Amino acid sequence: MKPSNPVFTGIETTVFETMSRLAMAHNAVNLGQGFPDVDGPEDIREAAASALIEGPNQYPPMLGLPELREAVAETNKRFYGLEVDAKSEVLVTSGATEALADCIMALVSPGDEVVLIEPLYDCYLPLVRRAGGIPVRVRVSPPNWGLDEDALRAAFSERTKAILINNPMNPTAKVFSEAELTLISHLCQEHDAFAICDEVYEHLVFDDAAHRPLMTFEGMRERTVRIGSAGKTFSLTGWKVGYVTGPAHLIDPIGKAHQWVTFTTPPNLQRAVAYGLQKDDEYYSGLAQDLTAKRDRMAKGLSALGFSVLPCAATYFLTCGIEGLGLGDSDVDVCEKFVKEAGVATVPVSAFYGSDAPTGYLRFCFCKKDWVIDEAIARLASFLTADGRESA
Ligand code: PMP
Ligand code: GLN
Repeated sequence: MKPSNPVFTGIETTVFETMSRLAMAHNAVNLGQGFPDVDGPEDIREAAASALIEGPNQYPPMLGLPELREAVAETNKRFYGLEVDAKSEVLVTSGATEALADCIMALVSPGDEVVLIEPLYDCYLPLVRRAGGIPVRVRVSPPNWGLDEDALRAAFSERTKAILINNPMNPTAKVFSEAELTLISHLCQEHDAFAICDEVYEHLVFDDAAHRPLMTFEGMRERTVRIGSAGKTFSLTGWKVGYVTGPAHLIDPIGKAHQWVTFTTPPNLQRAVAYGLQKDDEYYSGLAQDLTAKRDRMAKGLSALGFSVLPCAATYFLTCGIEGLGLGDSDVDVCEKFVKEAGVATVPVSAFYGSDAPTGYLRFCFCKKDWVIDEAIARLASFLTADGRESA
């Protein structure tokens, strides 16, 4: 029998699904896959429910419902001062994942180099490879995950078609600095490269950190596409509603890729997201404040247990060093022990690397109810006591 495509043949199931399956099998507290354990605003869910009953439930326009495209354009203006034409510069997709696939398919041709920043969200490498692109990885390192200018400069060449960045960044919980974004913007322009910006965590930013899209930097408007996700912005990750904003000359081919992938996205969810995006500023700041408190609660608990908790300026995730625990194992082994023996699921940060991954870090998802966070800490505490470890 002929082989299936080598990019997908024999590769592992995504670590997020794997950890959620293990969490279920072991009745573990699931701090692995990134999803909140409370559904987002009831009025948004009610809007989706009534749109489902009232209809229409037929194919919406391929680029998305006009009201959602308008709402995406308006939020670009409201939060970032970007003037966006809803008709030609916004595309609605079935989640940011589809948006990423569409952007990569539409912008990357076989043999093109694509600069990626590692650790990287796990779909980036296979999507770039399936498009025939050649990933060029640049690594940022803990504890501060700073982008090294020389390394980034060296990654760009005349073969560079695009850089794909995730800002704010999963799993590092980093928000790229003005200086880093300025450097990226210069390199994109020097090398005539596109920027594909995965900004699904744009509203989950804490303390005095602020998210500024790369698209707002001088010279970038014409060569950047930015991707958002209603799943993250409204704590409704199962909805899989995403949106791409970009110049018309890029949204056009990206829309053509989208027409053969999903063509469209459920109309009731689009209507509800259009309604949600118009929420007042208090909704957005409240979301970030709630998450800040959860981050702090989990960070305090994990630090007390001996984890070295790295700074976290955004996202759902805390990355923690495990060396101080004295378990003497790699992240994958510790993760397996935690889920099977302590009853707490996490994600090994090595899963976010293409090769030669550091093995001393675990990712913990903190968008959980307070008692769930406390229960996870209590379970880890009892596992990490001498008795717990003897039985491990
Ligand atoms: N990009 C990043 C960095 C993510 O963490 C996720 C996970 N939500 C996605 C994209 C996918 O988003 P969606 O669920 O909207 O497809
Ligand atoms: N983005 C989520 C995470 O990082 C997972 C999404 C998924 O499972 N596809 O945990």
